[in-house]
Amino acid sequence: MAALDPQIAELVEQTPFVDTHEHLIEESVRVSGALHDRWLPCDDWAYLFSNYVADDLLVAGMPAVDLQKFLGQTLSSEAKFGLVAPYWDRIRHTGYAQALRYTFRGLYGEEDLTADSLQRIAAKYHETVRPDFYATILQKANIEFCHVNSVQRIFMETAQPALLAQDLNIRDFTRCSPADLARVKAETGKEPRTLEEWLEIIDFYFATFGPRAVAVKCDIAYARSLNFRPVAKTQAARLFLHHVGTRAGYEDLKALQDFLFRYCVGKAQEWGLPVKLHTGYIAGNGMLQPARVRDNAADLSCLLQDFPDTLFVLMHIGYPYQEEFIALAKHYRNTAIDMCWAWIINPGASVRFLRDFLLAVPADKIFTFGGDYSAVEPIYGHARIARRGITQALSELVAEGWLAREEAPELIERIMRGNALRLFPNRHGTTAPVSTRMA
Ligand SMILES: [Zn+2]
Repeated sequence: MAALDPQIAELVEQTPFVDTHEHLIEESVRVSGALHDRWLPCDDWAYLFSNYVADDLLVAGMPAVDLQKFLGQTLSSEAKFGLVAPYWDRIRHTGYAQALRYTFRGLYGEEDLTADSLQRIAAKYHETVRPDFYATILQKANIEFCHVNSVQRIFMETAQPALLAQDLNIRDFTRCSPADLARVKAETGKEPRTLEEWLEIIDFYFATFGPRAVAVKCDIAYARSLNFRPVAKTQAARLFLHHVGTRAGYEDLKALQDFLFRYCVGKAQEWGLPVKLHTGYIAGNGMLQPARVRDNAADLSCLLQDFPDTLFVLMHIGYPYQEEFIALAKHYRNTAIDMCWAWIINPGASVRFLRDFLLAVPADKIFTFGGDYSAVEPIYGHARIARRGITQALSELVAEGWLAREEAPELIERIMRGNALRLFPNRHGTTAPVSTRMA
């Protein structure tokens, strides 16, 4: 491995990221400490472990019941530390844990979570959470602004639109599970009985939020394959009636989802919105089906062909099948790759990916950072890992003669912010329709 090139390191350090993927909850919720099972299970330093580190703790052997207590509200900091310490030691070198260690260092001035630093970290967690702390932390991480896929709302009308640009989440519209229908009912008061009524609701969301959204986002790959076949509307209408009455079987539900997904992609195109898709590895434990994940790239090709004027943003590099995603981005004009989350799933693989990508694919088809967190603090640590990885990948390319050092500044600007500013609509308070056609 080549040494890190100091000039490249300096440039990467100084260049702000446009962060293209977070799940940040509204800052007012963090400041008020209003607990919620899904997005704020506890309001102390253990909360910082809830995205991702918790997954590593569990596979390292931490009993599920202890993890639940650790992320709960009843235990003292000392008791929580007692539960987590043996497993923290086992996972300290994973990307998830390293992001948190960089965060402790950069935000709290503590080298690591130890019996000695515990009380100071516990106190600093609370000192940090105050009005405007999102802007403070993002500035410290040298992040210009974020794209947010809200976990609270289908589209979040955020109090901070300049800092937190929002995705319109189309998962509920396409997956169409009882929970999805319930969520839509909670937001709109509407309970569709026919496909036509369901499409009216979808149209309403696009008409209301499309002008303010930065993209549409869908993580339906957690639930099914990405093989979306064309389905006639009459068939979908029949399936919808059947589905809301008795719950369709697998094949029927797939066909209904295929229709709804393609309908939403059409709406995204109409409103000038890129389509962000979860691909590859999934968060959590005990659910990963490598065969389905392995087919993501192959399954997507028909969609990429059928919607040539829609920009598809394939997230998380399709890890661990990232080579296929390099081929998709190289071959399809309407396909870009987002490295969000990938740096902490596997930092080494992400460095190799970026090197390989830049030697195969036009440099304007990649976004290099998204923390993928609902808490703001660990974004800082994740951004540190991403900057280190970008520096390493480019240093290696320069050392090996694939890239001239004079070419590095323009490339860094593109991959860290310029591509995102150019390819996503600029919705910082504007409503102008923007084409998602690749230039
Ligand atoms: Zn995500």
